Amino acid sequence: MFKIIDINRPFVPAEKVEPKFHILEQRDSQNLRIGALHRLYILESTWAEEIGVHLGWGKRTKQNRVEQGGILLGEVFHDPDQNRTFVIVQKAIPGVSAQGSPGYLSMGHSTWEEMLNEADVFLERTEYPLRIIGWYHSHPNELPVFMSGTDLNTQAKFFHNDWQFSIVINPHKQIWRAFVGLNAPECEGFVIADQSFLDWRAEEKVIENAPELVKPAQEESRDIEILPESENQDNNPNIQSIPPKYE
Ligand SMILES: [Zn+2]
Repeated sequence: MFKIIDINRPFVPAEKVEPKFHILEQRDSQNLRIGALHRLYILESTWAEEIGVHLGWGKRTKQNRVEQGGILLGEVFHDPDQNRTFVIVQKAIPGVSAQGSPGYLSMGHSTWEEMLNEADVFLERTEYPLRIIGWYHSHPNELPVFMSGTDLNTQAKFFHNDWQFSIVINPHKQIWRAFVGLNAPECEGFVIADQSFLDWRAEEKVIENAPELVKPAQEESRDIEILPESENQDNNPNIQSIPPKYE
């Protein structure tokens, strides 16, 4: 039996002008058929050291011949001038116990629980308002990168907000694409230099800390934003009765 608790208003991303990050063009997504204005940025370190290592980007290993996946943590903002939501992925949590085959990936309750627990630990430590902003998984070998019917079901069930993204990656062909929201149209995806993100954050911090801009409610709202997405019943995989299956 589900206990429905609806005390939280839906998350609304903070408004911010989209910065100009240093984009590493060789690592961009394919950007094939862009159908959404939204944008996904991912830090180079997260891309290379977390997702790349997990999926064996550019390598052919025993593990990466089958599908693998995980969840993505990042910050979400909305640029009102462009009416664009953009996320900056800063952490990837691999579903290490997921059962994959060359065309199928199944993440059961225990895998979700492991990933969400790891996310909780990370979110508690960070001072920034990171959230679970989506998921990633591989289409290995000769598979193209696209959202299959099963992928769309997973997206609709767990990541249907218009600020939640999916990345599909082929580590052998070294291609990837990003998709967003309920119907998962493709959106632009970019790998960015960590330093350009850190520079932007430092600038933002200076603005935030300017005496004339300090507001009494600032600390309080920051605390709320740090909460993991598990506050939202709809998006909490733990309360779903059917384990998600990826294809
Ligand atoms: Zn898939």
